Amino acid sequence: MSRSYTAAALHAEGRQICDLAEKVAREELRPRAAERETEDFDRAIVDQLGELGFLGMLVPAEYDGLGTDMLTYLCALEELAWGDPAVALSVSVHNSLPTRILLRHGTEEQKERWLRPMARGELLGAFSLSEANAGSDAVSLTAQATRTDDGGWVLDGEKMWVTNGETADLITLFARTDEPGDRRGKDGIGAFVVPTDRPGYVPGKEEEKMGLRASETVSVQLDGLELGPEHLIGEPSMGFKYALQGLTGGRLGIASQALGIAQAALDHAVEYAAEREQFGTPVGQFQGMRFKLADMSTRLDAARSLTHRAARLVEDGEPEARRFSSMAKMEASEAAMQVTREAVQVFGGYGYVREYPVERLFRDAKVTEIYEGTSEIHRSIIGKQLFRERGLET
Ligand SMILES: Cc1cc2nc3c(=O)[nH]c(=O)nc-3n(C[C@H](O)[C@H](O)[C@H](O)COP(=O)(O)OP(=O)(O)OC[C@H]3O[C@@H](n4cnc5c(N)ncnc54)[C@H](O)[C@@H]3O)c2cc1C
Repeated sequence: MSRSYTAAALHAEGRQICDLAEKVAREELRPRAAERETEDFDRAIVDQLGELGFLGMLVPAEYDGLGTDMLTYLCALEELAWGDPAVALSVSVHNSLPTRILLRHGTEEQKERWLRPMARGELLGAFSLSEANAGSDAVSLTAQATRTDDGGWVLDGEKMWVTNGETADLITLFARTDEPGDRRGKDGIGAFVVPTDRPGYVPGKEEEKMGLRASETVSVQLDGLELGPEHLIGEPSMGFKYALQGLTGGRLGIASQALGIAQAALDHAVEYAAEREQFGTPVGQFQGMRFKLADMSTRLDAARSLTHRAARLVEDGEPEARRFSSMAKMEASEAAMQVTREAVQVFGGYGYVREYPVERLFRDAKVTEIYEGTSEIHRSIIGKQLFRERGLET
């Protein structure tokens, strides 16, 4: 139902990609979304999406990607999330973070070796910044990368919350490159390409999550993991900056995931309200119900407009991009919470049981307010940027 608005803003090729995402979501993702929740992570479906090009959306054709613009990417991601938000998360993380960071900061050799197969969907990427005691305050991470005599690195420590941390082939992982006696804050963090089949890369048990249960989330022990010099991305002191740059675009991926969840919940709610009868009439005939659906639809489309505006600013590298990216991610995720909560209400008691999909969507929506920056952190960024954009540091 979101397509008419978005499609109008897309060029013909973008529309085709978005239409393909919608078809895959309707035919392959949605019918098995509830089952996937109860199974191990479904790498096969992600590989299938890779074969269709969805794992190389933002990578230019010269590196075997689809080279889509940001709006096409977000449209496709929203459609995939409409079908199954957990599968869309794998696509979002892979496209927004590890591939984008390699594209921007990797050497030609790194792009040949890793980016090209990632864009073709042959290698799945993940992103590991967070640790048990370094979430919102990611600069305080403690995993250590120690330089060896031959210019390589040895990684030790523990990372947490790694989406696809066991199944992915490569992780873009952030560790301290400064010396224990000479800590340099954000300037002491490097970004590394870590193949998950290396000795010393030890995934922990999978987290038992409230929602997105079909997505894999693990902690990872780094136990003397040895890497050659070619595994460092860019400068050893610049990793945190690369992470933040990646997250500015990545947050729009999460915004689109939230929009897809909300759209799915709204679609289910309208269909149910048209069918369910009480007092001898479909409940959708009641004004109280129509007002509720009207509020859900308005909030959702306002968030979508904001997300698409942010996409243009990010793509054009405008100074307001950071603020808009945060505003879009915050608003879309909070809209998704409102819309899914109200969708449960529209279903009454049936909304509270697993047999009907809005219960799952309500659980899935919650984490969009948490990962890639909590709503509180985004409010802080937005407030700070308002002063910065005017040259008024506070
Ligand atoms: C399912 C899932 C998947 C994830 N996937 C990944 C991944 O693939 N890679 C990765 O690196 N990370 C991932 N994360 C981690 C995620 O990004 C962090 O959970 C998030 O950044 C919040 O960190 P935290 O959980 O440590 O919460 P904390 O930072 O401890 O926050 C606790 C509370 O304090 C608030 N708070 C903190 N600081 C402030 C402040 N300055 N002002 C106001 N309030 C504040 C927060 O908003 C929150 O409400 C994932 C998390 C989840 C749940």
